[in-house]
Amino acid sequence: MIESFGILASMLEKVGLAALVILSYRAILRSRWPDLWAGPAIGVLFSLGAAITMIDPLVIGPGIVVDIRVVMVGLAALFGGLWAALIACVVAVAVRIFIGGAGVLPGTVSIVVAALIALAFVRIRGSRRDLGNLALLGLAISLSLSSVLLMPFDFVVNTAAKSLPALIVRNVLGTMILGYLLAMEERREAEHKTFKQLAERDALTGLSNRRALEVLERRNPNQETPELFCVIMFDLDHFKTVNDTHGHSCGDVVLARFAEIISRRIRGSDLVVRYGGEEFCVILNDALLSNAARIAEDIRGQLAAEDFANGVTVTVSAGVAQSSENEPSVYTVIKNADKALYEAKRNGRNRVEIHTE
Ligand code: GH3
Ligand code: MG
Ligand code: MG
Repeated sequence: MIESFGILASMLEKVGLAALVILSYRAILRSRWPDLWAGPAIGVLFSLGAAITMIDPLVIGPGIVVDIRVVMVGLAALFGGLWAALIACVVAVAVRIFIGGAGVLPGTVSIVVAALIALAFVRIRGSRRDLGNLALLGLAISLSLSSVLLMPFDFVVNTAAKSLPALIVRNVLGTMILGYLLAMEERREAEHKTFKQLAERDALTGLSNRRALEVLERRNPNQETPELFCVIMFDLDHFKTVNDTHGHSCGDVVLARFAEIISRRIRGSDLVVRYGGEEFCVILNDALLSNAARIAEDIRGQLAAEDFANGVTVTVSAGVAQSSENEPSVYTVIKNADKALYEAKRNGRNRVEIHTE
């Protein structure tokens, strides 16, 4: 009875470990680290997985322990590449040496062999995560079991040989199950990213939508000296007439082209948002009002010079405003830029006006 509980508890532990690895993997996928760090982070994750399995292994002989460390090392290579495999390998070796016992040498050799095989496997067969490839990887890393030959002949024949089939099956199943769950997590994460992008991007122009402004509004609300920024509000002139005269699809071409003109004129650190149907909002970080007005004027001039099919031309009006230390809210500055835009419309359109207190 107690033994059954022991087996059950140990199984739950392994399930718990798998869940931990999967959740941490999701956290790595979701993190905003540059890709450069993802490999090492995956390496650390799988080395922790390997270390934990080694702390509570199955003992098949005096000082001879078996666990799924090679599965962890193999998956590190598949999911994280060279750096991940190296880190998982080094940590697993260190933990195995620390644990000690008669099996230190074959144990260490098996980890290194598994890492080398997994890296070669990924190089030859690629890093596909389908069940077939995972099963083959599990089989390939099982070659590391040959390190048992470093043990005394008696032990190899009488003990190790008997457990060999079970160990191979465990490697294959372990790699398949954990690998499959991790791959599922990757797919979910990729879908999540796609949906997020679709929700945040405007389909016609590829620009961010208004929600991007909320992120800006939330940044450093308690900052003592808030970063100064400028806002340009653009609104295409008589756009309803453009649609009515040349068709809605011509209007769409104009909108997409205008988005392109704006994007080319601003810096990567600035933000352009499709604010409404034919209204665009540009946030210029760390910019002077005079610079912002010049940029708005450049964009206005470029659009006016653009010849859409059949000599169709379109103009735009713009309003520019700057934040101040007492006025750090993006929405207030947008309101001010909007007032200036209204002035530009009133003063005859196809012009830029600057908001003054
Ligand atoms: P004003 O110079 O005063 O801004 O005049 P306007 O005609 O541009 O202003 P109004 O706000 O009356 O018209 C905006 C037009 O923009 C009406 C709408 O059909 C058009 N529009 C909004 N979104 C889209 C879009 O995605 N594609 C196209 N083709 N037209 C759009
Ligand atoms: Mg409008
Ligand atoms: Mg308009």
